[in-house]
Amino acid sequence: MSLIIKNAMIVNADSVTDGDIMIRDGVVVQVGGTADISAADQVMEAEGLCAFPGLVDMHVHLRDPGQTHKEDIHSGCAAAAAGGVTSLVCMPNTSPAVDSPEIVRYIIEKAKETGIHVYPAAAITYGLSGEGCCDYEALRKAGAAAISDDGRPVENDGMLLCALQEGHRLGLPVLCHCEDLSQAAGGKVHEGRASGLLGVKGMSSSSEYGDIERTLALAESVNAPVHICHVSTKESIEVIRLAKARGVKVTCETAPHYFIYTYEKVLGRDADYRMNPPLREESDRLAVIEGLLDGTIDAIATDHAPHSPEEKSDFVKAPNGVIGMETSLAAALTYLRDKFTLCDIVKLMSYNPARIMGIPGGAIKAGAPADITLIDLNENWTVDTANLHGRSKNAVFKGETLTGRVKATYCGGRKVF
Ligand SMILES: [Zn+2]
Repeated sequence: MSLIIKNAMIVNADSVTDGDIMIRDGVVVQVGGTADISAADQVMEAEGLCAFPGLVDMHVHLRDPGQTHKEDIHSGCAAAAAGGVTSLVCMPNTSPAVDSPEIVRYIIEKAKETGIHVYPAAAITYGLSGEGCCDYEALRKAGAAAISDDGRPVENDGMLLCALQEGHRLGLPVLCHCEDLSQAAGGKVHEGRASGLLGVKGMSSSSEYGDIERTLALAESVNAPVHICHVSTKESIEVIRLAKARGVKVTCETAPHYFIYTYEKVLGRDADYRMNPPLREESDRLAVIEGLLDGTIDAIATDHAPHSPEEKSDFVKAPNGVIGMETSLAAALTYLRDKFTLCDIVKLMSYNPARIMGIPGGAIKAGAPADITLIDLNENWTVDTANLHGRSKNAVFKGETLTGRVKATYCGGRKVF
């Protein structure tokens, strides 16, 4: 089976090339120039479109098993395909948690039906309880691609050290949700003007960066790599910048809402703008952009976190989290294009996350899997939650008009959107 994508602007992290992409049996065999269409089973005309390597979203909640009223592996992967995401890492805070080889295998088997590359992150501690480290070797053998207690920090230093050392030994990235629960547990919004005006408990900046400092100190002490999830405060970015400068093997991610919005969004008491960490202040938002520009922040992920409309209906009682896979690329193209090149965006949303995870993808090149997203850079569209492909509607960019739209997504050479 062969396919030619004709006349695209082909963007990689390090180059822009005009021309054709020839794909055979799910693998890219030629990039640029003119491919011989008589040799192809199918031709996709892409004049005027841009071809990105499929996005790699390294922070996604698929809610399967156990909370499939919010999302399941099929609906989550449909959302991924619609957003141009061809590889995703799904977090283990499902029900039951991804703490056994059986659950890892369940996810991998079910994901095979979707056409999207799904990489399960397994839990660091049993049931994300903080009580007892999982059997990382068995989880890796079953197919786990990373370990994380995302949704919660690993509060016990000894267990976090064990995870960092074992993750390093086994080649499993350790994805850390950093939050000092003694400060932030039960918090609803950023601590400061937002929590004061709304009369709810706040989540302070120090609850995030203080726990990042602890995590980095542990990683540094054993010279192990660590990845920090969803960085949102200026102090967090500075802590990571300094750690990188002294040689700590740290990578980190942020999400589009942290470089686009501030806490002002929650003042209308709409729980669709509540997530953890929360929307912060303008100075934090600007620091996130600075961190993306200078390479302190390595990746843009979504922290796609579906919740049902009923769960999100009460501002205070609603769980944290927003969906984002169908809007992340358009949001980045809309809000970053003034300072970032298309190559930069590919680097942050595809190349770097693939490299951090140690998985295929991240580039359109001969020999690579044909994971390709075709984008119309100039199309304006308004985010209407009725048209989203995932099961939940808690979209942080609802009602926004964005510029840049995914027109087709190929994963392993197969058209998935
Ligand atoms: Zn988290």
